[in-house]
Amino acid sequence: MAATSDDPRAFITDEVKESLTTPDFDMWHYSREQCVYLIEYMFREQGFVEAFQIEEEILETFLHTVRHNYHETPFHNFHHCFCVTQMLYCIIHACDEVEFFLTPLERLSVMVATIIHDLDHRGLNNNYHINSRSDLAINYNDQSVLENHHCATGFRILQRPRCNILQHLSLEDYKFVRKTVIACVLSTDMGKHFSQRSQWRAVVAEFNPEDATHREWLCRMMVCCSDISNEVRPWWVSRPWATNLMEEFFAQSDREKIEGLPVMSFMDRDQAQLEAGQVGFIENILRPLWQEAAELLPELQPFIERINENLAHWVMFMQHKRSQILLHVVEESHKPGISFNAGDVIVRMGEISSKMYFLRAGTVEVRAEDMTTVWDTMGQGAFFGEVGAFKGIPRTANIVAKTQCEILVVGRDDVLELLDGYPNHVRFIEDICTERLEKHAKRQEAAELAEHDLIEFAG
Ligand SMILES: [Zn+2]
Repeated sequence: MAATSDDPRAFITDEVKESLTTPDFDMWHYSREQCVYLIEYMFREQGFVEAFQIEEEILETFLHTVRHNYHETPFHNFHHCFCVTQMLYCIIHACDEVEFFLTPLERLSVMVATIIHDLDHRGLNNNYHINSRSDLAINYNDQSVLENHHCATGFRILQRPRCNILQHLSLEDYKFVRKTVIACVLSTDMGKHFSQRSQWRAVVAEFNPEDATHREWLCRMMVCCSDISNEVRPWWVSRPWATNLMEEFFAQSDREKIEGLPVMSFMDRDQAQLEAGQVGFIENILRPLWQEAAELLPELQPFIERINENLAHWVMFMQHKRSQILLHVVEESHKPGISFNAGDVIVRMGEISSKMYFLRAGTVEVRAEDMTTVWDTMGQGAFFGEVGAFKGIPRTANIVAKTQCEILVVGRDDVLELLDGYPNHVRFIEDICTERLEKHAKRQEAAELAEHDLIEFAG
């Protein structure tokens, strides 16, 4: 189709088309309206329009109608629908096996499933519907309430002749698409996440592309992975989604409080911790799911590397936040700070001491034995000395003030007294301690190897 200046598709250049096949695609640059045309393009590019005789006007009307049936919620809006659909498109493009394993009808089904998978979501989750005994919960007997509703809404739209992109399918094919789409959308119920994963592992262990049940499992996994794929995107694209989700959670929990309904702590603005929540979600849910999908679709490995990058960001922010809270607790003890000038040695490698240091202001460097190699830099809010204080191990590095610093120096017993009643803070210090000891062991190992190589070389 030739693009004209008033063609709403004119923005879909070759560059956009190329980018659309990768998780790097930055959908924040595109309006909801443009996303409709991008999905339409994906349909055409996959050959569905010809293969299933989908009339272009009907496809366009279907997609616009879908768009208008997503709400302006912070997270479960049409942009989320677009992201999920586009990630599915990336998976299909990245993995040759998908084309080999799945029939065109199955590929059409997964695409339709992602498009309709959160239709008419009002920003309230299944728990809310069940606890508030909403009409939807009554309609669906508390079973995957929203997922049933999204799916039914999607098929109701498809029932309209002007939206029915499936109108030229035989009854048999229509029933097959309907069955697959329903299975995929119902799979997105997070309440089923863990049980589905164990079933998926069993399928992967003996995957047989001839087996229709196995192929349906693959469809379901592709849709589930796509549904929780924000962390597969570049940090600047994924980051706003995390805030949007919290905003939606907080709005729900505020409402639950007013209505006297139970509130989940991770949704409560007074208890939830964005960074720690993201780390837990990625480590326990998102990454394992993608890793298990990658066992069947090894080309997903680079997607997992991106997840690891984003996880590292979240861990860093989580640790920074926890350090700040910890510093605040220590500051409340009103211990006087000690000033250090740039270049002062604060901690000397090999010394034995049970003192811990909390950096109120300034920057320090972690230096090697030679005092010139810089292993790390730490800024305001960081703490150090915990290895000596908690493990009784001689100092494993030199700490040198890089700038003027103000530091709270606290003995081990005082730290424990201050943190009495804050088991999370103590655990945090212990975790950092373990992490740093592991780093130290690796450095020593590397140094020994280097020394060995030198001797070998000299010998
Ligand atoms: Zn979703």
